[in-house]
Amino acid sequence: PPPGVRIGLDHEELETILLDTPSSERAEEWLRYYTAGPHLAGKNLSQAEWTRDKWEEWGVKSNIITYDVYINYPRDHSLTLLEKSKKSRDWDILFKASLEEDVIDEDPTTALEDRIPTFHGYSATGNVTAPFVFVNYGTYQDYQDLVDAGIEVEGKIAIAKYGGVFRGLKVKRAQELGMVGVLIYSDPGDDGEITTENGYDYYPVGPARHPKSVQRGSVQYMSTRPGDPTTPGYPSKPGVPRAPANVSIPSIPSIPISYADAVPILKALNGHGPKSSDWNKWWNQNKGLEYKGVEYYIGPTPDHVVLNLNNQQEYLVTPLWDVIGVVNGTIPNEVLIVGNHRDSWIAGGAGDPNSGSAALNEVIRGVGKALEAGWRPLRTIVFASWDGEEYGLIGSTEWVEEFLPWIQAANVAYLNVDVAVSGPHLRTGATPTLSQIIRDAAHKVQSPNQTVEGQTVADLWDGKISPLGSGSDYTAFQDFAGVPCMDLSFEGATEHPVYHYHSNYDSLHWMKLYGDPGFKYHKAMSQIMGLIIANLVDSVVIPFQAAEYADALGSYLDSVEVKLEAKRGEPTTEVEIFELRAQVAGALDDVKGSMDAFKESLRAIRESICRFRIKALEVDELAAWANHELEADIPWWNIIRRIKLARTIMKVNKQYKFLERNFLYDSGLDGRSWFKHVVYAPGLWTGYSGAVYPGLVESIDEKDYVNGLKWAGIIKACIDKAAKSLE
Ligand code: GLU
Ligand code: CA
Ligand code: ZN
Ligand code: ZN
Repeated sequence: PPPGVRIGLDHEELETILLDTPSSERAEEWLRYYTAGPHLAGKNLSQAEWTRDKWEEWGVKSNIITYDVYINYPRDHSLTLLEKSKKSRDWDILFKASLEEDVIDEDPTTALEDRIPTFHGYSATGNVTAPFVFVNYGTYQDYQDLVDAGIEVEGKIAIAKYGGVFRGLKVKRAQELGMVGVLIYSDPGDDGEITTENGYDYYPVGPARHPKSVQRGSVQYMSTRPGDPTTPGYPSKPGVPRAPANVSIPSIPSIPISYADAVPILKALNGHGPKSSDWNKWWNQNKGLEYKGVEYYIGPTPDHVVLNLNNQQEYLVTPLWDVIGVVNGTIPNEVLIVGNHRDSWIAGGAGDPNSGSAALNEVIRGVGKALEAGWRPLRTIVFASWDGEEYGLIGSTEWVEEFLPWIQAANVAYLNVDVAVSGPHLRTGATPTLSQIIRDAAHKVQSPNQTVEGQTVADLWDGKISPLGSGSDYTAFQDFAGVPCMDLSFEGATEHPVYHYHSNYDSLHWMKLYGDPGFKYHKAMSQIMGLIIANLVDSVVIPFQAAEYADALGSYLDSVEVKLEAKRGEPTTEVEIFELRAQVAGALDDVKGSMDAFKESLRAIRESICRFRIKALEVDELAAWANHELEADIPWWNIIRRIKLARTIMKVNKQYKFLERNFLYDSGLDGRSWFKHVVYAPGLWTGYSGAVYPGLVESIDEKDYVNGLKWAGIIKACIDKAAKSLE
């Protein structure tokens, strides 16, 4: 604008509105709405419409987008422990699991007639009867320990603890090993200090886990690909062709159970097979139910002690609804997307996902207030309320698959919030270019904990920003579209009330009593998100830090080298040497040779990272220069200086916007081509936690250094391309 003429808001005024608007009372009001009844994927149209109407009311143009997706709803289930009768040929029932969470009078959503049964998303229909084996957490290594010890798992039912890795991967490995069904239970030994064994009462009287609480959840394979299993890579629009589903979902039945239901089953294992405490440190930690008489024997049970697992699911193609709100910016083709999912496994879902929905609503209300005050964002903001996250990130994945060309052309960053609040500790994950944006926001927001007056969220934060694996709606943005992402939450630690994740007790009542009394952390989350949005859409220069990416690439490579060194120490068997020789077909004459060539290729990546770092520092400096110039009072007649500034800004913004795309590799990762990012992916056998340089790490795991060389070449090319893009 010409000197002296003001339009819109200055940045400080904008920040003030986004800090002042969010209120704890309003957050509670939205949470009360969302948690008033079941809102499972594909069964929440009224909530989608309500959300759309609210966003419209606050000044954000909003629409509902529909996808037709393949999902399951529970029909029936039972779980029975049986013993061959000593008198007749019949089976005696030793125990019948309730498979129900207790109704709690003071917690109304636990008592709803239409509350959602306990079940697994994408579990297979099946009715199996078999002896059973305790498989610890059911990680890849846990199953391997059983196989190595010669414990018969084929044809058996697995009983696994929740934890460690994504639940679907526990079922995947069981199926690969020929097991016929899986039970997954919540062991209080994983609840930290707050347990009934330690003298705490359980919910609702106290903060410990309710013995009947059950963690529902999806058992899709997560690290294979997210989204509708029948439409890999393309949107589930009505009438599209559908691929077979069983590539990314199990074909053996599984159900989630409470520890109250698990105890008699685990006790039936006592005395059979080895005892897990005699094994390594990892298995040794099984103590959580000892006080209930469980001795954590591995089994299997003898043939006359079996489980009958009956799991009946209805599979169908049904609509899901994403709500999409848009605030147009003045710059074409620069867009920030901010999303949270709306669907929940349970009638309540106060933490997951609706603490995020409530916080997001307060952000949107703030944005609406700013618009009312005359603000026009430079960049477009797209708000999303996703459906079907719980089954496999469906709403977000289908949407990204549908709008991929536009997203890749325009999307600057994606900000995700899922469980916004389940405790007081800030937890963050992000692409390194965005780290500073999170830190800046955390420093400007007052912590709800004011034991030291004036302390900010950053003052009470460990400062850790992790690489993103999977488990929420950022996945398609990061791994399929190459968009920088962040994910924010406040979580509890071992000394905080147990969060009843995916259980009926993740309710408004729990949130008010234990999770966030007074809804202060909800408000803080809205404030942090508001500041992040303001920074990203209102800064003339996109506020990225490319050099942080270079540093992260270097430290990830360190971890790969550490892993490789550890492998070097591992004895290599004759068979492996033979196989490696065959793979390299004479090109390299021994194991050491191929490993050394691989090591050399890592050195080449290191050099590329150094060159990338130099370019990254240059562009960051240019951005800093431009910001400085923007502050300066350039005389109106100095056209040359103005043009130079404008050109620099346009160039830097373009470089920042497209930087992440360079890390996509079109053919995708080995055996999971949907995942295109060469730096980040969900760990093949962890799911939630991220693998960095998945191509390298998986090759090292397989001791396949020829494949490792291939990946080193691909990664180096991506980094070189990224460096070139910053020239
Ligand atoms: N947040 C969901 C979960 O952790 C994601 C499910 C999925 O990605 O399949 O269960
Ligand atoms: Ca799809
Ligand atoms: Zn969630
Ligand atoms: Zn969830």
